[in-house]
Amino acid sequence: MSELDCEQVLEMVWEYLDGEIDEVQYRGIHTHIEKCGDCGPRYEFQRKLMALVERKCQEGPIPADLKQRLFQLLKE
Ligand SMILES: [Zn+2]
Repeated sequence: MSELDCEQVLEMVWEYLDGEIDEVQYRGIHTHIEKCGDCGPRYEFQRKLMALVERKCQEGPIPADLKQRLFQLLKE
């Protein structure tokens, strides 16, 4: 499979965190995050953010629009 670029990783990182992607993509993202100086810290930040949001939204899954807003924030 071809190497993922930063943009693709950024777009799939929520699904990665949610465990909603297949194993091939999962491994591709994992490998990219490990060696990319941009995506590594960004992923760490997003992982912590997601844990925080999940603690605050224990009644149900994170609303899609909230996810979208956070996602936009990270892209800026
Ligand atoms: Zn990257």
